[in-house]
Amino acid sequence: MISYDIVEHGKPLQRVMKDTPRPQGTEVLVRITRSGVCHSDLHIWDGFYEIGGGKRLDLVQRGIKLPLTMGHEIVGEVSEIGPDAAGVEAGDVRLVNPWIGCGQCKVCLRGEENLCLQSQNLGVFSQGGYATHVLVPHTRYLFDIGRLSPRDAAPLACSGVTAYAALKKVRATLASEPVVIVGAGGVGLMGVTLARKMGAGDVIAVDIDASKREAALQAGATRAIDGAAPDAVKQIHAATGGGAWAVVDFVGSSQTVNLAVSAIVKGGTVVVVGLFGGDVTLPTPFLPLRAMTLRGSYVGSQSEMAELLELVNRAGLPTVPIRTRSLDEVSDALGDLRAGKVVGRVVLTPAG
Ligand SMILES: [Zn+2]
Ligand SMILES: [Zn+2]
Repeated sequence: MISYDIVEHGKPLQRVMKDTPRPQGTEVLVRITRSGVCHSDLHIWDGFYEIGGGKRLDLVQRGIKLPLTMGHEIVGEVSEIGPDAAGVEAGDVRLVNPWIGCGQCKVCLRGEENLCLQSQNLGVFSQGGYATHVLVPHTRYLFDIGRLSPRDAAPLACSGVTAYAALKKVRATLASEPVVIVGAGGVGLMGVTLARKMGAGDVIAVDIDASKREAALQAGATRAIDGAAPDAVKQIHAATGGGAWAVVDFVGSSQTVNLAVSAIVKGGTVVVVGLFGGDVTLPTPFLPLRAMTLRGSYVGSQSEMAELLELVNRAGLPTVPIRTRSLDEVSDALGDLRAGKVVGRVVLTPAG
């Protein structure tokens, strides 16, 4: 098999040829046909997250080991099944849920493997999808994509389920009140369309980039506001009739979280999803006096992955532009993402 690995943080990925692993126990070997490129890979590649004030959260200390094959939006064909694996056959096309926990703890047993403290997330803590093959620990992480194409299904594994799980956290007001989506990159655009499919009538997109605001309008946003405008908060208040009940921040910078907190009405909720990095200072009386909720959302659970695939098969795909590139262009694809040149998603395909 071939994989493209981080050998040293911040250095170009290296093409590595190695023996294709044989699945043991409940493992399944998947031959990858599509592998989405996600913005969070830039942080893994760098080896840190910015946490504000010039400080960094070191990912090596968080347990990331090199060499690492990144890539966590994987669709492929079942190639070989371990002796104790059941429920799939060679040739089955499956989406791989990369958000894998220990499978043993209370959190995993209630189905929230994405929150397990012993994470084995593919492409983060174990070998992922910038490769021709990937080993998946159990068939429960393999999801039937129904009538979707592998190309369209791949981004659902991260950006799709991340947007879906975040929107579920504001579902109480989704149909009755405008929802504000901050950031119209790949995940934010997914958020715009999924919000509509989940019943949102009024989706207000906020982005500092005019081309991304345009993409958001095309993806189904009812209005788009320039987040860099000096009166951006005022514009959101005007568009929501005095403040938003729900803001989902797909950027997660100091500026966007501050904007989101200022944009909500009394009783409103801010869900932070993006990992851009930064920090916020919040007067503590605001929490009770404004009865506000500020919370995070990290990818999605096993059941949320199943719900998302059901929703998309029933209600149609998110209208997010997808560009296909060859797997050997992975470093260029990541470079374009870092330079802000990608509208929508890039999905890689191993040549041949
Ligand atoms: Zn991702
Ligand atoms: Zn666990």
